[in-house]
Amino acid sequence: MMKEVHVIGGGLAGSEAVWQLAMAGVPVVLHEMRPLRRTEAHQTGSLAELVCSNSFRSDDWASNAVGLLHEEMRRAGSLILSAADQHKLPAGGALAVDRDCFAREVTLRLESHPSVTITREEVDGLPHADWDSAIVATGPLTSPSLAQAVQSLTGEAELAFFDAIAPIVHRDTIDMSVCWLQSRYDKAGPGGGNADYINCPLDKTQYDAFIDALITGEKTAFKQWEASTPYFEGCLPIEVMAGRGRETLAHGPMKPVGLTNPHRPDARPHAVVQLRQDNALGTLWNMVGFQTKLKHAEQVRIFRTIPGLAQAEFARLGGLHRNTFLNSPALLDSSLRLKADPRLRFAGQITGVEGYVESAAIGLLAGRFAAVERLGDTVSPPPPTTAFGALLNHITGGHLTVKGDGAPRSFQPMNVNFGLFPPLTASPKRTNGERVSKTLARKHAFALRALADLDRWLKRGTSIAAE
Ligand SMILES: Cc1cc2nc3c(=O)[nH]c(=O)nc-3n(C[C@H](O)[C@H](O)[C@H](O)COP(=O)(O)OP(=O)(O)OC[C@H]3O[C@@H](n4cnc5c(N)ncnc54)[C@H](O)[C@@H]3O)c2cc1C
Repeated sequence: MMKEVHVIGGGLAGSEAVWQLAMAGVPVVLHEMRPLRRTEAHQTGSLAELVCSNSFRSDDWASNAVGLLHEEMRRAGSLILSAADQHKLPAGGALAVDRDCFAREVTLRLESHPSVTITREEVDGLPHADWDSAIVATGPLTSPSLAQAVQSLTGEAELAFFDAIAPIVHRDTIDMSVCWLQSRYDKAGPGGGNADYINCPLDKTQYDAFIDALITGEKTAFKQWEASTPYFEGCLPIEVMAGRGRETLAHGPMKPVGLTNPHRPDARPHAVVQLRQDNALGTLWNMVGFQTKLKHAEQVRIFRTIPGLAQAEFARLGGLHRNTFLNSPALLDSSLRLKADPRLRFAGQITGVEGYVESAAIGLLAGRFAAVERLGDTVSPPPPTTAFGALLNHITGGHLTVKGDGAPRSFQPMNVNFGLFPPLTASPKRTNGERVSKTLARKHAFALRALADLDRWLKRGTSIAAE
C-alpha cells in the first residue's frame, strides 16, 4: 500500500493538486474546513469555489500569458481547466464559467475518484508528524490557527497577512530619453552598483497635476471584513500619503535629493518617481513606494502622466488586500518544499501568486512534484521558458529581494506575464506576411517556445494521464 499524500485546503490550488496526485495513482487525503468552518469570502461547501469574479481571464494562448497558462494546464491534464471548459459561458476572448456548475463539477470528480478521500475538517496546527508529505493550499484566507502554526516554522516576518502591491512596468516600455539610471547619492547597495534605479523627473507643474489626480482618482473600497486591515506606516497607499499634505510625497517616496538628471543637469526636478529592478532577468521594474488602492484603469491613466512612462505597459497594477502569503523566494525550494521542513509543500495564493488560474497552476505543479516524489522519481521543474516555469521561477527565486528600503518586504503577489519569461534569443518573425505588430509577434514567439518546451517536459515526466 502506498502511503497517502495529504492536501490541506480544497480551493483552486488544493483541488488541482489532489487531482494530479490521484491521476498519477497516488492515494490522497484532502482536508477542507468548509462547510463546517467558513472563510470571510466563501459562501458554500463546494470545492474550488470562485469567491468573486467568474472569469479565468483571457483564453488567448498566442498573445496573452494567462491564456498561455490555460493551454499549458490543459496539456498537463488540469481538472480546473477541464471543468472550466465544460461549464464555460459566452465572454468574448475570456474564459468565464457558470460558477456553481464549475465548483459542483470539481467536487463531484474528486469525490468520485477512487484514490481520493475527502475529510471536512480544519487543520488547526502544523500537519501531523505522521504525514511525511503534505501540501498546504489554504489560500489568502488561511484559518488563523494554521497561519500561526506556519509562522512558528517560518518566522513571524515571513508570512504576511495583507499585501501592499506597487505597479510593475515592463522595462522596454520606459522612455530612457526622459528617465535615467542612478542610485540616490550614487550610493552602491549590497545587490549592485551605483545606478540601480530608473528615475522619472517631475517639475512643479507636473507634480501638482499628479497630486490632484491621485487625490481625485477613483479608489477601490475595502471589503467590509477587510476594513480593519491595518496599514503599516511603511507602506501607506500613495493616495493616502498625498491626502496628508501636498508635499508629503515630494518629501517621501518621490523625494528628488541625491539625484541629477543627465538630460537636464541645470534643472533640479521637484519630485522623482523611482523604479527598481524586480526580477533577475531585468525585464520588470517596480514603482518604489507606489502601493495603491486606485482602480486599475485610473492607475494606468494617472501613472502614464509621469514623464518617461507615457507608453508604459504594466505587468502588474497596484493593490492592497487581506492576503496570507509567504516570503517564498526565501522559504521555498524549486519544487515548492519548505526548506525548514521539506515534508511540507505550499501551493496556490499562499505562495505569492495572484489569481484563480495562477493559484491552480501552482497547485498542479505541487501535486505533480509530490506525486513524482512518492513514486520514487526525481522531480524536474518545468523549463523557465514555459508559463509554468516562469511563474514557479519567480516565486522560488526569480524575484530580486531588496531589504531595508522602507517596505516591510519586497516580494509581493504576482500574476503571470511575459515579463517573467527569459528573453527571446532571436527577433520574432512576422508570420505569413500578416500585418501583426512587433509586440504581438514577440508574444506569439514566447508562446510557441513555451508550448514546444512544455511538450518536451511533459513527455519526460511521469505519465500523469490527461483526460
Ligand atoms: C475576496 C477575494 C476576492 C478575489 N477575487 C478574485 C477574482 O475575482 N479573480 C481572481 O482570479 N482571483 C481572485 N481572488 C484571489 C483568489 O481567491 C485566489 O486567487 C484563489 O482562490 C486562490 O486559490 P487558493 O486555492 O490558493 O485558495 P482558495 O481558493 O481560497 O482555497 C483555500 C481553501 O483552503 C480552505 N482552508 C483554509 N484554511 C484551512 C484549514 N486550516 N484547514 C482546512 N482548510 C482550510 C478554505 O476553506 C479554502 O477552501 C480573490 C480573493 C479574495 C480573498
